[in-house]
Amino acid sequence: MPELPEVETIKEDLKDIIRNKRIKKVEIRLAKAIKNTSGRRFIQELKGDTFKSLSRRGKYLIFSLKSGKSIVIHLGMTGRLIHSKANKEISDYNKRFSRVMFVLENKNTLRFIDMRGFGKVYLISKGRLERFSRLISLGPEPLNRNFTPQAFKNLLKRHRARIKPLLLNQQFLAGLGNIYSLESLYRARISPLRKADSLSDKEVKRLHSAIQKVLIGAITSHGTSIDAYVDAKGRKGSYQFKLKVYRREGERCPRCGGKIKRIKQSNRSTYFCPECQK
Ligand SMILES: [Zn+2]
Repeated sequence: MPELPEVETIKEDLKDIIRNKRIKKVEIRLAKAIKNTSGRRFIQELKGDTFKSLSRRGKYLIFSLKSGKSIVIHLGMTGRLIHSKANKEISDYNKRFSRVMFVLENKNTLRFIDMRGFGKVYLISKGRLERFSRLISLGPEPLNRNFTPQAFKNLLKRHRARIKPLLLNQQFLAGLGNIYSLESLYRARISPLRKADSLSDKEVKRLHSAIQKVLIGAITSHGTSIDAYVDAKGRKGSYQFKLKVYRREGERCPRCGGKIKRIKQSNRSTYFCPECQK
């Protein structure tokens, strides 16, 4: 599932390419991908509008348009956003799982591709973005300047839940999913089974720094391509080669040589080293 680094990579790839590009045509191949309006209205409202800017909040992409409307996209499990030049071949996979397609003025296309179909596309009217519930309920951005170790400590203090499922909770902290929460806990040498409010000041600092370093490392590597994820130009990321525990059950821990273990937490796989994560 794309997490903060993958969504950030796509945003960086796309933001300059689509700026000031007019939407000539919208095609919808899977109506249920559009979550808050009908396919017909989505097409009518967006035809002729122009992309102005692109931003990210948590795992959401926010396309702002000249009209003041916005398109908000969550990539779900297998969502891709691919920009293709008019003369470029589209792979069979990308053709087959295209759900929404924007044809731009230069005949280039921006496609929302989603094999599993858990992705979500929203059309937001002018002036409504600030009140869009999916975005206002999100926790802080882990790479923002105001997300300090002290701010993190204040948040953790209020929770008795185990740290790993808490890090996945988007209302607690925006952008982390299974991969980067586990890699951050490993880097910080903290067990995923610990209760959030049991972390010492030192551990909070370590985890804070680990989250930021893991996320920045993954952004620098253009994300992790284990499942469907590719960037907006169809290229794979390379952070999968840097993962220390994720999907490495039974392998040796690169730090202490212990055996990496897999358990279930809130129905998701947790990978960790019981020897050096305490
Ligand atoms: Zn270890």
